[in-house]
Amino acid sequence: MADKIKKTLVTYALPYANGSLHLGHMVGFIQTDIWVRAYKMQPNVECLFLCGCDGHGTPIMIQAEKLQITPEEMIAAVQKEQNLDIGDFLVEIDNYHTTHSAENQELVTTVFTAHANKGNISKHTIKQAFDPLKNMFLPDRYIKGECPRCQAKDQYGDNCETCGATYSPLELKNPYSTLSGVAPIEKDSLHYFFKLQNYSTFLQTWTRQGSLQTQVTNKLDEWFTMGLKEWDISRDAPYFGFKIPGEDSKYFYVWLDAPIGYMASFVNLKENLKNLNFDEYWGKNSEIPLYHFIGKDIMYFHTLFWPALLAGADFRLPTAIFCHGFLTIDGQKMSKSRGTFIKARTYLEHLSPEYLRYYLATKLNDRIEDLDLNFDDFTQRVNSDLIGKFVNIASRSASFIHKYFNGELSAQLPESTLLQEVAAKASTIQEKYLSREFNQAMRQIFILADLVNQYVDTKKPWTLIKDNPESLEVQQICTLALNLFRLLMLYLKPVLPSMAKKAEAFLNIPPLQWNDATTTLVAHTIAPFQPLATRIDKECIKALQEASRHATV
Ligand SMILES: [Zn+2]
Repeated sequence: MADKIKKTLVTYALPYANGSLHLGHMVGFIQTDIWVRAYKMQPNVECLFLCGCDGHGTPIMIQAEKLQITPEEMIAAVQKEQNLDIGDFLVEIDNYHTTHSAENQELVTTVFTAHANKGNISKHTIKQAFDPLKNMFLPDRYIKGECPRCQAKDQYGDNCETCGATYSPLELKNPYSTLSGVAPIEKDSLHYFFKLQNYSTFLQTWTRQGSLQTQVTNKLDEWFTMGLKEWDISRDAPYFGFKIPGEDSKYFYVWLDAPIGYMASFVNLKENLKNLNFDEYWGKNSEIPLYHFIGKDIMYFHTLFWPALLAGADFRLPTAIFCHGFLTIDGQKMSKSRGTFIKARTYLEHLSPEYLRYYLATKLNDRIEDLDLNFDDFTQRVNSDLIGKFVNIASRSASFIHKYFNGELSAQLPESTLLQEVAAKASTIQEKYLSREFNQAMRQIFILADLVNQYVDTKKPWTLIKDNPESLEVQQICTLALNLFRLLMLYLKPVLPSMAKKAEAFLNIPPLQWNDATTTLVAHTIAPFQPLATRIDKECIKALQEASRHATV
């Protein structure tokens, strides 16, 4: 009887469509992709990885206005560019959709209507800052003025960067609109609210049942103690988004439709993959695991609003939500003037995506820690570990097998327990990937790589071959070394998919899977060796930093 296929659904947070992706975005995409690839190397599994761009809101509208194009044109172009960047970092997404889509609009209406019918939506009038010249209500970030507490000038409408005070934009002294420069006036507006507090008991239970990291649960406890409040889900025209049903000039706030975009991406994929069943994945009783990978900045939306929205509309809940930290570069927040604001595309023009994938893998773990990309450390780790300790095993051994043995691996392996020792680590390493402890997986793999290099250095095949060019012993040593390399490649495959492809080609083997750790490669002809990777030239790093200093953001 065939084993049942185990299905899984994974998402990464939808990037905002107002600009290019930068290396900070790639942390989460790479983390999610490594996990998905490690997962898919198991037998009898299917894993869908969905994403898309988040295309609504005031910043999109204003950015498009500046570019003198429609928001639709702008987000279509950004969606295309983001999809290319992500793919070129070897992140394999099944569907990269957009929240500005018919599928999403229909789902948003479904979710909103379900909550309205349950009495979870209220309407009341609030006072808001209004730009009389632009004739629009102003989001907090578009109002600046003097801090009501410390009087610092040019502070944003929500908090003071000098003294840290938080306030409402109406409390700013001498406020002005960043769009027109004029002083905003106060104006009444009728808004829609989602009564999150109706889900307080449900959320306190759900957030403590193992779906979240401990750090997240602890943070949520602070919010529960303060009490959940209703959430403003509407915005007045002009706005770029979905109109609220029955309203002429009111729109859903972008954060209502953004996470629903995960479901819309699924519905859109279903157009191409007809065998997908919406209810099987999203129905209330779905048994398919659903994992959301996100950055720590959007934890609140994903761990409170999103499950409440899903529960009230009778959809399934996430199985787990995994938050990651932010990327700093050379110990600092990314900054354009220091050349550390690095766009994804600028990186790709100078360095291999696999270097960054590997470097991030040495740092990523299951906690919400910020990661630092230190370029000296990056160069050292890639050159001495990845190339020096790993790639070199293959190039040395393969060249001997070709030069002296016609590309033939020996029929038997030499006396050594090393292969069993390395093979025995397969399940531990697989487990480290699936529990998102990539840094531990990398540490274990490179301990094994050291043992392999010690073995080859002790046996000195380059000396043995001088005395006897047809030495069976040398053929066996190199065969064992290539078998050990094959295992290490298998272990690194989720991180280095392109290198794995080249290795599979020269080893002349089918795509490596976790199960392959139990087999060996003997009496087998290998194909011509293909260089797997080259060392990082320091000049490339300098060129990348220089290009980043001049890039437009
Ligand atoms: Zn202040």
